[in-house]
Amino acid sequence: MSASAERNQVDAVVVGAGFAGLYQVHRLLKAGYRVRAFEKGSDVGGTWYWNRYPGARCDIESICYSYSFDEALQREWRWPQRYAEQPDILRYLQHVAERFNLRPHFAFNTAIEAAHYDEASQRWQVRTATGEEISSRFFIMATGCLSKPLEPNFKGLDLFTGERYQTSRWPHAGVDFTGKRVGMIGTGSSSIQSTPIIAQQAAQLFVFQRTPQFAIPAWNRELTDEEMRTAQESYAELRRLMRQSEVGIDYESPTIGAKEADAASLQKQLEFAWDRGGYLMLAAYPDLLTDLESNKLVSDWVKEKIRARIKDPAVAEKLIPRSYGFGTYRVPLETGYYDVYNQPNVELVDVSQAPIEAFTENGLKTAAGEYALDVIILATGFDAGTGSLTQMNIHGRDGRSLTEEWRKDIRSTLGLQVNGFPNLFTIAGPLAPSTAFCNMTTCLQQQVDWVTDTILYLREHHQTVIEPTVARQDAWVKHHDEIANATLLVRTKSWYTGANIKGKPIRLLSYIGGAANYRQICEEVKASGYPGFALA
Ligand code: NAP
Repeated sequence: MSASAERNQVDAVVVGAGFAGLYQVHRLLKAGYRVRAFEKGSDVGGTWYWNRYPGARCDIESICYSYSFDEALQREWRWPQRYAEQPDILRYLQHVAERFNLRPHFAFNTAIEAAHYDEASQRWQVRTATGEEISSRFFIMATGCLSKPLEPNFKGLDLFTGERYQTSRWPHAGVDFTGKRVGMIGTGSSSIQSTPIIAQQAAQLFVFQRTPQFAIPAWNRELTDEEMRTAQESYAELRRLMRQSEVGIDYESPTIGAKEADAASLQKQLEFAWDRGGYLMLAAYPDLLTDLESNKLVSDWVKEKIRARIKDPAVAEKLIPRSYGFGTYRVPLETGYYDVYNQPNVELVDVSQAPIEAFTENGLKTAAGEYALDVIILATGFDAGTGSLTQMNIHGRDGRSLTEEWRKDIRSTLGLQVNGFPNLFTIAGPLAPSTAFCNMTTCLQQQVDWVTDTILYLREHHQTVIEPTVARQDAWVKHHDEIANATLLVRTKSWYTGANIKGKPIRLLSYIGGAANYRQICEEVKASGYPGFALA
């Protein structure tokens, strides 16, 4: 066999060079497998490679947002801030790639165009956009759950002669907004993080808002040497607590629900959670996401906090969410977001009743008026959960198309394997715990470990193929739906359920049964010899 043919006959193809892809390649190499990995971007980083907009930072505390698989790494790395900003996280992932010598195993600037499962050879035939054909036993997607940007189909999109940017495809050289009239479309996390910084530079900033958000303060700050040292020394215990937690970070919640608390203790508990900042506010009460009355109490309290930040009461009312409850749409952490609406150069444009109709040569037009702009920013979100996979043209047994199947109904087993697609693994795939309800670094590592252990199990048992049965898959979907449908999340229109994409089947995309519970289920499957999975 020639060297290039040998290079293209591998045990595993891994797609993506973010947190999951890097660790997956590392684990497989350590276990002695031949691996080729592919990444569309020009370097490692995944989410943190693409999302370079001003103000991009992680909403999970940096001490918890890192790998735990290597003791020396976690003891040596120093995070500068409580919430790490994008350049720091990217620097961390570049360091990991260097430290474990992972880059040589990746082909960068290389998208996967198509892949099909060949039943005769029991191998995946993978084709890249650069024309390579690779034959692999295992096909592992580490493509992230928020990777395919959603570009709304605005009329006249290309007529606009000014600058146009998408937050998730931000130019590496940055953008100078000085003296410019800027239009920001969308008010999700990406917009909420970037708006305060853009508002400092722009001559005028129009924020086009369709749905207001319950953003809560991050209370970001520098980490002291002492805090960092304490974390580094106690990582073993912290990681244990994180793994045992519901969402992959350690926290405590009161045992009673919000509606059972008297007014004084409710006020005290909410102020306490608010002052701790960030996601701990979601843990303020255990029934926040399941009980309408409790959710309303907390939502009303947060609404008052928002009102208190805005000088003009008419603007404040526009910023108050009314169609859903706190926590049922991804809660963005903010630093100076609400304050921008007190600046004279910032205008909030409510497009809920008067939608954006078209882009024009000089800006954009809503049903209520026209806006002259030099720059338009699309902070319009993603085709979450499925988008990164369905864009890839994946065909399993009997030519079954993953795109077609998920167009009708999004089904998966543990979020990690799909019936009809043997040896395909989808890390952070739909119906697995992912960004919405889990610290990604905790959950991704656990899923990579399960995938690797599964591949090792096959080797030990002289098997080459694993595929979930229809019955096992149906059971997982049923279990997932029962938990999801008992929460208030499914009542809110957002990317959590795919409702931001016209025609997408509605189902909560992330498993919400708890990270620790999910880990245990995965462990039991492994320990009991993969019941409900066909091994061949
Ligand atoms: P997003 O939360 O989906 O927000 C998209 C925004 O665009 C929404 O306000 C949406 O309005 C608006 N929009 C879409 N189409 C529109 C149209 N035709 N007209 C007017 N408005 C339109 O997207 P995102 O802000 O990029 O965040 C997505 C997720 O990425 C977050 O929820 C989070 O999980 C992750 N993220 C994380 C961080 C972090 O950790 N720091 C930062 C950024 C993003 P509607 O709500 O009305 O649809």
